[in-house]
Amino acid sequence: VLELRGLRKSFGDQEVLRGIDLAVHRHEVICVIGASGSGKSTLLKTVNLLEGINDGQVLLQGEDISDPRVDVDATRARIGVVFQQFNLFPHMSVLDNVTLASRKVHRAPRAGAETTARRLLDRIGLGDFAGAFPDRLSGGQQQRVAIVRAIASDPELLLLDEVTSALDPQLVGEVLDLVTELKQQGSTILMTTHEMQFARNVADRIVFLHRGEVVEQGAPAAVLDDPQHPALQAFLARVH
Ligand code: ATP
Ligand code: MG
Repeated sequence: VLELRGLRKSFGDQEVLRGIDLAVHRHEVICVIGASGSGKSTLLKTVNLLEGINDGQVLLQGEDISDPRVDVDATRARIGVVFQQFNLFPHMSVLDNVTLASRKVHRAPRAGAETTARRLLDRIGLGDFAGAFPDRLSGGQQQRVAIVRAIASDPELLLLDEVTSALDPQLVGEVLDLVTELKQQGSTILMTTHEMQFARNVADRIVFLHRGEVVEQGAPAAVLDDPQHPALQAFLARVH
């Protein structure tokens, strides 16, 4: 689904991504881990075209979306994104939040979009909140709505950047459970997380980013239990 080739990104004279090669296959869940400032969020932003790149390629289904001639809005519509916080529009009901992209970007009729949205909200147990504004919901509920909104128009790829980091500990589980469910339903997900237990249980592959480079990747057990690179060993010693 996604392939990054020799991706480089600098802010001023600071090179934040230093030649990233990474492939995400259909139905895969990839967890990117790494220290603060290692470039995780920047990596996801380049995929979503929120940040331009200095060198390399971003291929979505084989199409080079880093090409300046690409239609940015149409490309973004193919990718679902959820960030750490402030994902929902506070002045819109939960239902309008979830249907927004379908209605505005994909020009789906409102009735159909709402049927889909209500089904998704029911599935996460929030059907009764369809008419409520986001501030009536807990942080965990808001993030689940944000994730449901991101998948409402059936994106080819879902990007999740630290979606549980801003949550109280007791709310983390319900959001991660939803991500687990999406994996079971076949979503393709590239995510960053500090939740190592979740990464171990759900990721098909863990990618360790160190100062803008992928220095180690592999199956969760290999990466977490038998780290080879000294930077990964040090990182795991800190987070465990
Ligand atoms: P965290 O775990 O804290 O979220 P991260 O791995 O997501 O960290 P990034 O947010 O990708 O790290 O940042 C990587 C580096 O790029 C940092 O040094 C950061 O200061 C820098 N950076 C990120 N965004 C910008 C920007 N818009 N302008 C300048 N520098 C930036
Ligand atoms: Mg980040």
